Amino acid sequence: MSDCLFCRIIRKEIPAKILFETEHVLAFHDIQPQAPVHVLVIPKIHVESLAQLEESHRALAGELLLAIQRVARETGIEATGYRTVANTGAHGGQSVFHLHFHVLGGRPLSWPPG
Ligand code: AMP
Ligand code: ZN
Repeated sequence: MSDCLFCRIIRKEIPAKILFETEHVLAFHDIQPQAPVHVLVIPKIHVESLAQLEESHRALAGELLLAIQRVARETGIEATGYRTVANTGAHGGQSVFHLHFHVLGGRPLSWPPG
């Protein structure tokens, strides 16, 4: 999936404000932040969405969750709380088809979403 936007960010072909990266995971700031902290956590391999996660991704799925926790710690929102969202498919409002978790915080967030 070489023309995928997030794959291009992973390859550093498109600039992004990277918070941290590991062998398998990248965390970078959303270009259109919806909250004072808005970071995206993605796998470095191309997986379209949560719906395409497979048994072979079990370890990666755990790493992504721990990376979300690390984002909260490193952006200073761990104590005040945060929201983690994975938009999936058309009704989920997914617009970039490379699995990503939004990590939002830094202000109280309303619920439910529209
Ligand atoms: P979703 O609508 O859940 O697929 O989320 C895609 C997210 O990617 C949106 O919040 C966008 O603002 C964000 N986004 C799109 N292009 C970029 C980019 N070049 N760098 C960082 N974030 C981006
Ligand atoms: Zn991709």
